[in-house]
Amino acid sequence: MPKGNLYVVSGPSGAGKSTICRKVRKMLGINLATSATTREPRTGEVHGVDYYFLSHAEFEKKIQEGAFLEYAKVHNNYYGTLKSEVENRVNQGEKVILEIDVQGGLQVKALYPDAHLIFFKTPNLEQLEARLRGRKTDSEETIQLRLKNSIEELKCEEKYDICIVNHTVEQACNDLIQIIEEKENLS
Ligand code: 5GP
Repeated sequence: MPKGNLYVVSGPSGAGKSTICRKVRKMLGINLATSATTREPRTGEVHGVDYYFLSHAEFEKKIQEGAFLEYAKVHNNYYGTLKSEVENRVNQGEKVILEIDVQGGLQVKALYPDAHLIFFKTPNLEQLEARLRGRKTDSEETIQLRLKNSIEELKCEEKYDICIVNHTVEQACNDLIQIIEEKENLS
C-alpha cells in the first residue's frame, strides 16, 4: 500500500492555522494528529482532543522513551508530535496534517523528505497582533512573547515549500485544500 502524505502547517501564533486546519480536516475528512504540550489548557480545550496536556516530568519521560517524532520548546513550553499519532496512519496510506512550529516542521522534513511544508501568515504584523489580542485567551506577557517569537518564525518562511497568506478564512481554506488536492493527485 502506498504511504500517506504528511502535511506540515507552521507559522506565527495567531496567523489562523488552527481554525483553517480544523475546517480543512473536517471538509476533507482528515483525522487529527493530537500533539502533546506542557502548556496550561485554555478555557474549553479538552485533553486528548486539542492536546495531550502533560506535566514537564511526563513530557520529559516521553522524550527519554523516544515517543516523539519531533518536539520543541515553543513560547517557554514543550510541544511535540507523538510517533503513535502519525506513523501507523502514514504507513496505512492515510494523509495527516501536523500543525506545529517551525523547529518541529524542519525536524519532520529531515525524517520525511516528502513531507509538504506549508507556511501560514497574516498580511502584516499589525493584523497578527490584532488577532492575538482578539482571541482574548492570553496574558499581555504571553502576547508580547508570541509577537517576539513571530519575527523569528517569519524568517523560516523560505525553508517551507509554499506560503499561504491568510486574508480571509474562506480564501485560506481554499488555498490549503488546493495545495492538498494537487499533492494527492501527484502521488
Ligand atoms: P498554542 O499554544 O497556540 O496552541 O501553540 C503554540 C505553537 O506551538 C504554535 O505555533 C503551534 O503550531 C505549535 N505546536 C503545536 N503543537 C506542536 C507540536 O506537536 N510540535 C511543535 N514543534 N510545535 C507545536
